[in-house]
Amino acid sequence: MAHNSWSDPDSSFATDFRTAKHTPFFEPIINTFNDGGYKPNVSYHYNPDVAAYHYGVRHPMKPFRLMLTDHLVSGYKLHEQMDLYQTERASKEELLNFHSADYIEFLQRITPQNSTKFADDLKKFNIGDDCPVFDGMYDYCQFYAGASLDASRKLISGMSDIAINWSGGLHHAKKYEPSGFCYVNDIVMAILNLLRVHPRVLYIDIDLHHGDGVQEAFYLTDRVMTVSFHKYNGEFFPGTGNYDETGVGKGKHFALNVPLQDGIDDSSYVKLFKSVIEPVITKFRPTVIIQQCGADSLGYDRLGCFNLNIKAHGECVKYVKSFGIPMMCLGGGGYTPRNVSRLWCYETSIMTNNELSSKLPDDIPFRSWFEPDYSLHPNLGDRFENKNTKKYLDNLRVQLMENLRYLNQAPSVQMQEIPPDLQNLTTDEETKILDRLKRESKFDKYKDEQRYYINKKDESRRGELLD
Ligand SMILES: [Zn+2]
Repeated sequence: MAHNSWSDPDSSFATDFRTAKHTPFFEPIINTFNDGGYKPNVSYHYNPDVAAYHYGVRHPMKPFRLMLTDHLVSGYKLHEQMDLYQTERASKEELLNFHSADYIEFLQRITPQNSTKFADDLKKFNIGDDCPVFDGMYDYCQFYAGASLDASRKLISGMSDIAINWSGGLHHAKKYEPSGFCYVNDIVMAILNLLRVHPRVLYIDIDLHHGDGVQEAFYLTDRVMTVSFHKYNGEFFPGTGNYDETGVGKGKHFALNVPLQDGIDDSSYVKLFKSVIEPVITKFRPTVIIQQCGADSLGYDRLGCFNLNIKAHGECVKYVKSFGIPMMCLGGGGYTPRNVSRLWCYETSIMTNNELSSKLPDDIPFRSWFEPDYSLHPNLGDRFENKNTKKYLDNLRVQLMENLRYLNQAPSVQMQEIPPDLQNLTTDEETKILDRLKRESKFDKYKDEQRYYINKKDESRRGELLD
């Protein structure tokens, strides 16, 4: 018998099936986060075009995962809870704030069609299997970097307390060369921008791999503290990130590395994460935090070796959020698209204080990607043997606390110096940035932007459904 609640005398307006059908899949959370009811203003920075690029058929990095993420986020109606920005490309000048001119010009020039003419450059710039030349590579870089820069501007202007860019977080890229699927380092560029206003920036990286590009860029300064949790055995990519890498010169003690072995499980990871991050935040007292949420630390990742479930990964991010410090949330690695998108959607719900039903919405495009369970929380925790013994973790914790001891006596870190990269900002550039901020803070403009974004998304969804 077909259920018809309109004619059911026991049903109220709140329980009838039509209302239920249009009820969002989340429930606002009231003070269950132990965060004193912190309700941040959250912004979401994304340009759908970024998801259309291809590194190559056999390459594990699939920008397509960003589209899946976006569909889950809007399927759960989380986009209604955030300020949405369709981001613009970073300009060449912005890329040059960190990267060298000859490298950026090379990225701009090279195409799959002309690459044979640049054999020497390909070698010089470390182009190969990990970082291939693909169609539109330079545009792709501009898109994901532009989104992180946009996020940094919204944090600086105070329009956002938390700014999310799932297309960013490409933490391996170096000043002169690409590395580990990363061509330009959007994180470094965003941090350089934040340093213009913020005295102390904390960078936290929970990708499976060491956040080497960001660590290297700020290894000499005490204004950026980098903390990275990752698999380390001296050989695993990128080969760096042992606990004895702690910074140099003024930056000594302002890099912290947490080397882990295969198979780490939810409870030991979360426990270790909190025991490290709590003293880092209370001693270093960052005025803004960048959280890199690389999804390759999940269990069953195509390139992974940890046993983390989505809730444990999210618990770390939730813990950082609970300090109520302005925060940028970035993506990163993650090579099993269906789980990457589940994770980043779940973490979007954490940022916006929403509890999601673990049953995925019925009407999302590409729903078959999530079979057979169609759940937000598949079990990812049982693939590898946990090689992190209690003894290993205890010793590691002691070592990390020893590394952090300096922060106890550290005089409050003031805005001692502007990093050299920032000194050459001309008055012109300064004025341009301020003008842009002013423009963006005009409420009307932002409302149009948001509406345009939603329309565009609907159009693209219709297209997919017709296919
Ligand atoms: Zn990674």
